[in-house]
Amino acid sequence: SVRLRGVHKQFSGNRVLHGIDLDIAAGSVTVILGPSGSGKSTLLRCINHLEKLDGGTIHVGDALIGYCRKGQALYELPEKVVAQQRQRIGMVFQQFNLFPHRTVLQNIADAPIRILGQKRAEVEARAMQLLEQVGLAHRAQAWPRELSGGQQQRVAIARALAMQPDVMLFDEPTSALDPELVGEVLQVMKQLAHSGITMLVVTHEIGFAREVADNIVFMDNGKVVEAGDARALLDNPQHPRLREFLASVL
Ligand code: ATP
Ligand code: MG
Repeated sequence: SVRLRGVHKQFSGNRVLHGIDLDIAAGSVTVILGPSGSGKSTLLRCINHLEKLDGGTIHVGDALIGYCRKGQALYELPEKVVAQQRQRIGMVFQQFNLFPHRTVLQNIADAPIRILGQKRAEVEARAMQLLEQVGLAHRAQAWPRELSGGQQQRVAIARALAMQPDVMLFDEPTSALDPELVGEVLQVMKQLAHSGITMLVVTHEIGFAREVADNIVFMDNGKVVEAGDARALLDNPQHPRLREFLASVL
C-alpha cells in the first residue's frame, strides 16, 4: 500500500504540491490524470524520494519514506537507508534509459546481483522469466540499440520488476513511443496489473485507465481535485476541470 498525508513540495517558492492525501491499497492500480504542470511527475518523484518533501509524510507499506520519526519530529534518514527504501519502489519513466553497453539480460540482472547481492544463476533465471513475461525472452542477448522503443520499454519494466518492488510507479511510460508501439507496452502493464502488484500510473491513455485502473486520481494545480472508482469517475466526472480535461484528451 501507499499512503500520503499532507504532502507539500515547492521549488524555490513555486508551490507544486499542496497538501496531497492519497491512499493506494496493496494490489490496486491507480491512474493519475491531470494537465501538464499539475504536479504528477513531482508526486511520483516524492514517493520514491527523488525529491525531498517540504511537508507531510509518505508511507510505502510500513516504511516512512526518507524520514524517521522521534516523537512528533521527523529526521532525515541517511542516504544508505533511503537507497534501501528506494530499492523497494520500481520506477518506469517516459525515457527508458537502458544501459547501452549492457545486454538486455545484463540490464535486468545487474542490480539484483550487485546491489542486492543475489546469486547470479538465480537472478538470471528470474530475469529470463521476466523477459518471457514481457515477450522478449528471444532478445536476452541483444543490445538495447537493437530494440524498438516499445521493446526497450518492456525491458525497462522487467528491470524494475527484477528488484521485486512493493510498488511500481510509471510516469507516462508510453508517451515517447511511436503510436504503433504503445499497445504492446500497455498490454504488458495490463498483465502486470492482474498479477497483483501495486501500481501507480501517470498516463493520458484513458482507454487503459478505463480497462485496467481500479481508481483514478485527477490532479490540477498541485491538488487532488477528484478521486475515486475509475469507471464511475470517467462516466460521471463531477468537477468542471476534470470534465474539461477529459474532453481534451478523449
Ligand atoms: P507533465 O504532464 O507536463 O509531465 P506534470 O503534471 O508531471 O506535467 P510536474 O513535472 O510535476 O508536472 O511539474 C509541476 C510543476 O513543478 C511545474 O510548474 C514545473 O515547472 C515545476 N517543477 C518540476 N520539477 C522542477 C524542478 N526540478 N525545479 C523547478 N521546478 C520544477
Ligand atoms: Mg510529468
